[in-house]
Amino acid sequence: MNTLKSQELLRSSLRRIDGRGYKAYEDIKGSYDFAGYTLAIDYVQPDPFAPPSQVIVHVPQKTAAFPHELFQNRIREVALEDYLTRRFYTLSSRARGGSRGTGGSGLISIDKPPQEVFERTSVFVRENEIEARFVVGLPARGRTVLGRQAEEIFFEEIPLLVKEALIYRNLDEGEVKRHVDTVEDADSIRRRLAEKGLVAFVADGAVLPRASGVDDRPLAEGRVVQFRSPERVRVEFTAPNRGDLSGMGIPSGVTLIVGGGYHGKSTLLNAIEKGIYNHIPGDGREFVVTDARAIKIRAEDGRSIANVDISPFINNLPFGKDTRTFSTADASGSTSQAANIIEALEAGANILLMDEDTSATNFMIRDGRMQRLVAKPKEPITPFIDKVRQLHSDLAVSTVLVMGGTGDYFEVADMVIMMDEYIPCEVTREAKEIAKGRYSERSFEGGERFGAVKQRRPLAQSLDASRGRREARIAAKGLHTIAFGYQTIDLSHIEQIADISQTRAIGDILYYAREKYMDGKRTLAEILSLVEKDLEEKGMDILSPYLRGDYAMPRMLEVAAALNRLRTLQCA
Ligand code: ADP
Ligand code: MG
Repeated sequence: MNTLKSQELLRSSLRRIDGRGYKAYEDIKGSYDFAGYTLAIDYVQPDPFAPPSQVIVHVPQKTAAFPHELFQNRIREVALEDYLTRRFYTLSSRARGGSRGTGGSGLISIDKPPQEVFERTSVFVRENEIEARFVVGLPARGRTVLGRQAEEIFFEEIPLLVKEALIYRNLDEGEVKRHVDTVEDADSIRRRLAEKGLVAFVADGAVLPRASGVDDRPLAEGRVVQFRSPERVRVEFTAPNRGDLSGMGIPSGVTLIVGGGYHGKSTLLNAIEKGIYNHIPGDGREFVVTDARAIKIRAEDGRSIANVDISPFINNLPFGKDTRTFSTADASGSTSQAANIIEALEAGANILLMDEDTSATNFMIRDGRMQRLVAKPKEPITPFIDKVRQLHSDLAVSTVLVMGGTGDYFEVADMVIMMDEYIPCEVTREAKEIAKGRYSERSFEGGERFGAVKQRRPLAQSLDASRGRREARIAAKGLHTIAFGYQTIDLSHIEQIADISQTRAIGDILYYAREKYMDGKRTLAEILSLVEKDLEEKGMDILSPYLRGDYAMPRMLEVAAALNRLRTLQCA
């Protein structure tokens, strides 16, 4: 496998196995020397309908010749790798998948990135070489090897792809630079948010609405209103490449987004949610930048909860059920939202993003009239409105909240933004005036302090990834579903996962964490930080026994979210 064979050996093997049974493809496994690059056939599929075979190409920088400044720091390197993956993907989609025979015959494909840019294992740019990992459907008619067709793939199509996608002089110089510069600029703003006391930045001119609920590209049809910051909250950043950028700064503390229905509140919040990631040029949200530890919180009734202390929000449940060690297989809207917050804090979140559209009403508010009718001792829930200030004062956790339905929150907000026909206005003073006039309608129920965030210790034996004779069988079944042994982890309410390749990595990270760090003594937070450090230092290849080209880096917050939704999870 390690010795380099001549490409002519591959050619003669393909000619020899032409017309034989599909298993004969096993013979072509190995590394070959092509003029200007090496090609390794790493994994050979057992039949034409199985997941396609994996090919890894190494192009020396001598040939690829990427200017050093395009990958001179980590973020530029990630951006360049992402660019090359996209370029390879676009060009390879010309390949005649399926049309060359049975099943996936003739397919050439690489992992396809979404609008967001993050570290992935499809392409690596190094000082001395470019590495690309992609898949090929080895062609067959029925189960008979089509050697000539395979020859075309390896000796015509792949060489052309390598040349056009991985060699610098064949790329659009300006486009590559714009991609890398844009990502670096957004990243640089994100790193400087905290020093300006901000949790998010939304640049003037940003395009926030998306094409549709299932199409994350920018809305192009009809009238699109570009974002424009209210004067009083406008801030400036000097980005390393693009220079000065102005836009709305959302300060730490409690920020309320109000406005009439259909005026763009949720669209703004959704853009802020995804602002934890960098975006490709042309996305419209390139400079919507959010602190990397911001997390979307919502109600999620039906989820399971394993030993979470939800007592800051929920107490005195019927039948004396203890809310300091709360477990259930079927949470209600309010208990699920409470658990989502506590778990997020446990995993290190510092900003909560919430939308009335997806929150439990009785978790968010309890108005004066209801307080009079249902006395406090009869209501287990301390509403979020009475905890949101303590979150900031006790734990330095900020909240950005979309709330068009009640003005009770005016009192607890540091800043109020009103969306008016997709244009934000700053209305804090007006909101405070209104709140003052009606001050005493409801009474505060939040107690002295937010309360402690309990650190749990996950138990390894409660994570069983085995299935049949396999020690670990884990797979992403979609953007929001992980098959973990016989369990299914439902992530449909984890809105900040952007790529199924992240989901795939999350599943394997759970297993890695279990094997390496879950000893019943380490807390979840400790385990996450150890795993994060390993991934940073050694890359995502540590997650799999063989090299994969289809991982993308998730945040540890989403890893924790997945663990918390594993229905067998037990924590001490
Ligand atoms: P709200 O949460 O205030 O009810 P949404 O954010 O759901 O409103 O937006 C309502 C509709 O308006 C959506 O279809 C969205 O795509 C569209 N929209 C949002 N922002 C803009 C904008 N800046 N320009 C054009 N259309 C927009
Ligand atoms: Mg809405």
